Amino acid sequence: MKRGKEESLKRLHPWIFSGAVHHIDGNPEEGDVVDIYTSEGSFIAKGHWQIGSIAVRVLSFEQERIDVEFWKRRLQAAFDVRKSIGVAGVANNNTYRLVHGEGDNLPGLIIDIYAQNAVMQAHSVGMHQDRHDIAKALCEVMGDELKSIYYKSETTLPFKAGLGQENGFIYGSSDDNVSMENGLKFHIDWLKGQKTGFFVDQRDNRSLVERYSKGKNVLNMFCYTGGFSVYAMRGEAKLVHSVDSSAKAVDLVNANMELNFPGDARHEAYAEDAFKYLDRMTVPYDLIILDPPAFAKHKDALRNAIRGYTKLNAKAFEKIQPGGILFTFSCSQAVNKDQFRMAVFTAAAMSGRSVRILHQLHQPADHPINIYHPEGEYLKGLVLYVE
Ligand code: SAH
Repeated sequence: MKRGKEESLKRLHPWIFSGAVHHIDGNPEEGDVVDIYTSEGSFIAKGHWQIGSIAVRVLSFEQERIDVEFWKRRLQAAFDVRKSIGVAGVANNNTYRLVHGEGDNLPGLIIDIYAQNAVMQAHSVGMHQDRHDIAKALCEVMGDELKSIYYKSETTLPFKAGLGQENGFIYGSSDDNVSMENGLKFHIDWLKGQKTGFFVDQRDNRSLVERYSKGKNVLNMFCYTGGFSVYAMRGEAKLVHSVDSSAKAVDLVNANMELNFPGDARHEAYAEDAFKYLDRMTVPYDLIILDPPAFAKHKDALRNAIRGYTKLNAKAFEKIQPGGILFTFSCSQAVNKDQFRMAVFTAAAMSGRSVRILHQLHQPADHPINIYHPEGEYLKGLVLYVE
């Protein structure tokens, strides 16, 4: 490391930027595990080497071997957390995130569990290279509970690394793709779906929607698989409308509705652009959910993203019934909590309505944030009471 560039490592931050590297001994290949030394020559960490602005993702601050046993220890620790927070090993839930990258001291790795299947996603070359060891360790940690591992990293690995990665099973295989969340059933399309097939991160926020849905007209915008809609139905909503611009998403929400509330006429889904729908709609909605895709994927897109959130929320404030409740979210890591709140504040002010913040929401406990890596915080939401 360059002199003075070790400070963040001493505070256990798990990234080393390329500009902090003084020199490299030997000839590591992208994805190899490398040892890191301070400018004074003492060992400080080890991690996956990669070409790019983040040069090393730290796996350990100890001098230990990165082998199947190492992955087992890390995965066991992650599994123990999920059991202790009650999302794993319980009767009514088998949908959860087992590994959340830096939040589980495994930078570059995501593993979501859907019933007896794991979907594994690598965001770094090193995790890709080590995928088979990780899969082996995962089988040992989860034992009989695991029947298959689907590896889905086609779009998450750096293109330049030229890995030519294809999605596919790396252990077992499975056609059965129904998973349970808080007693509700969901088809999970890990083969073709977004992310690992489902937005596991909204579980707790969906429960809150359920709590507030009784007797209400509910609109779920950007519904994707319809998670919020299914919870609203169980919460005895008067009617639930789901909207997504993708026709495939509308098929998914309809299928999930059939799984849980077959033939229930309270629900309808529309394949339409959110802004157009909000403009033309005439139904008096008293609970609206806005969970759009990340408007800012990078810092450069920040200003436009904030404008997008303002515009979207302004429409909802304009349309929601008096006494209505608005659930509004941002999953852009580049937009922080204060910026998002400011965008929603601006939208509220444009409507001139009286608005109270009832809840401030965030990602759930199975998407933990490593306290030394605050960048891991990405999901934020507000629940607003609109007079
Ligand atoms: N709320 C969902 C996740 C939303 S993901 C859940 O809980 O699972 C974002 C969704 O927004 C995607 O399904 C995408 O198809 C949809 N989308 C993107 N742009 C849109 C637009 N302009 N209008 C409506 N839907 C849109």
